[in-house]
Amino acid sequence: MSNFLPNHTLDMIDQATMLHPVSSIEDLHAKGPTLYETAQGVTLRDSNGRDHVDMGAGLWCVNVGYGHDALVEAGTTALKTLSYQHHFGNAAAKDTVRLSERLVQLFHDQAGATHLNRVFYGTSGSDANDTAYKLVRYYNNLRGKTEKKKIISRIGAYHGLTAAATSLTGIDAYHKMFDLPLPDVLHTSCPHFYRYGKAGETEAEFTDRMVADLESLIQREGPETVGAFIVEPVMGTGGVFLPPLGYFEKVQKLLDQHDILLIADEVISGFGRLGHWFATGAFGLKPDIVSLAKGLTSAYFPMSASMISDRIYDVLSAKSAETGVFMHGFTYSGHPVGSAIALANIDVIEKEGLVAKAAANGPYLLKALQDVTSGCPFVGDVRGMGLMIGVEYVADKRTKAECPAGSAPHKIVSKYAFEEGVLPRALPFLPVNSFSPPLNITRAEIDEGVSRFGRALKCAEPELSKALQA
Ligand code: PMP
Repeated sequence: MSNFLPNHTLDMIDQATMLHPVSSIEDLHAKGPTLYETAQGVTLRDSNGRDHVDMGAGLWCVNVGYGHDALVEAGTTALKTLSYQHHFGNAAAKDTVRLSERLVQLFHDQAGATHLNRVFYGTSGSDANDTAYKLVRYYNNLRGKTEKKKIISRIGAYHGLTAAATSLTGIDAYHKMFDLPLPDVLHTSCPHFYRYGKAGETEAEFTDRMVADLESLIQREGPETVGAFIVEPVMGTGGVFLPPLGYFEKVQKLLDQHDILLIADEVISGFGRLGHWFATGAFGLKPDIVSLAKGLTSAYFPMSASMISDRIYDVLSAKSAETGVFMHGFTYSGHPVGSAIALANIDVIEKEGLVAKAAANGPYLLKALQDVTSGCPFVGDVRGMGLMIGVEYVADKRTKAECPAGSAPHKIVSKYAFEEGVLPRALPFLPVNSFSPPLNITRAEIDEGVSRFGRALKCAEPELSKALQA
């Protein structure tokens, strides 16, 4: 035990020594941290001994639930066998090689993506998207298209918080403190029909408007300067919404016309979240790069993987004698312990049928949330796919009037939800609570979580009225 801060409680030490990610320092000093001590399955226990149904699976990542023996054992064995091995200079670890074969096979078999045949590893969703950002540049440099480097993302997108990933993220709040985005990243319209569809506009017309916006941005910049378009197939942190009708078919055609790569950010959607192994298969996408993290190891180890298309790899490979070493990689790229855990995680998803469970329990959770929120005048929309669901608040359900700036109804509800022992997430862009529990949540646990959320919503209503009708 250290005695650097004698007579301090853990709360006090936290406040005295930590800068928390995506947290308010003022708020931390006012209220102290919320400490969690243990977790099993879908349930987290806080330092006061109270249990919470984790409807977020952490940050959309604990796909097989907490404390799963198979992953713990795989990690323990790997630590004892080969606790570390880098992959620089052609070095390799067996489990990492096996994982690469497994990922390529999964994309072939489960997503029909037989063009994704190479894997590059990192440690987070953010660095996977930084890898994508750098690959777009390198690929086009090698092709002599040195101008073709801009990347288009979407307003409301979340792609992480390293410097390039922050730039790809399309939420101002993450940019303004840090003088980002980088100048070669652009953002097009947010394809959220419920919020941004115009009165009288059909969903198909909305899609056409979104695609026309993208096209005019490409034309304005010059197609010869645009290297890639990055998408979350189902937008997550931006508010949990599905692509509007026919969106990806039209986008893909446009990208093909202009020789623009598609980057699919499957950091949330990968590994069963949507009731499919990958959104690439579910939406029939043909991405050149797929970013994976979170569900790759169910967050038992920090690890990301970038699936790379033949189109890109073949150019890199053909020019390799000329260019020499591929000058990108991390100390922990392809970490053998992460690889062993990822292999065990994929086994669990397969053996326990978790993709099918997400497909079956997703609509059950969706309906339960629709039912429990139906009486609340401030819940405008409840939607989702698989176990990725959003509850969006409005000032008036009938007119869909937007919530007043700063009212943050979703944060109000989250506060009451914590008191009831359930943890939905409060998202940073639109007033949305998200629900993305572990894929092995049972129906009884869904019922319990939803009824706690329903009670929280009831308790929150007077405060919501005040905030939203101000
Ligand atoms: N992409 C998406 C779609 C994400 O949701 C996230 C994290 N929420 C990231 C990238 C960044 O991942 P990380 O926090 O592991 O860097």
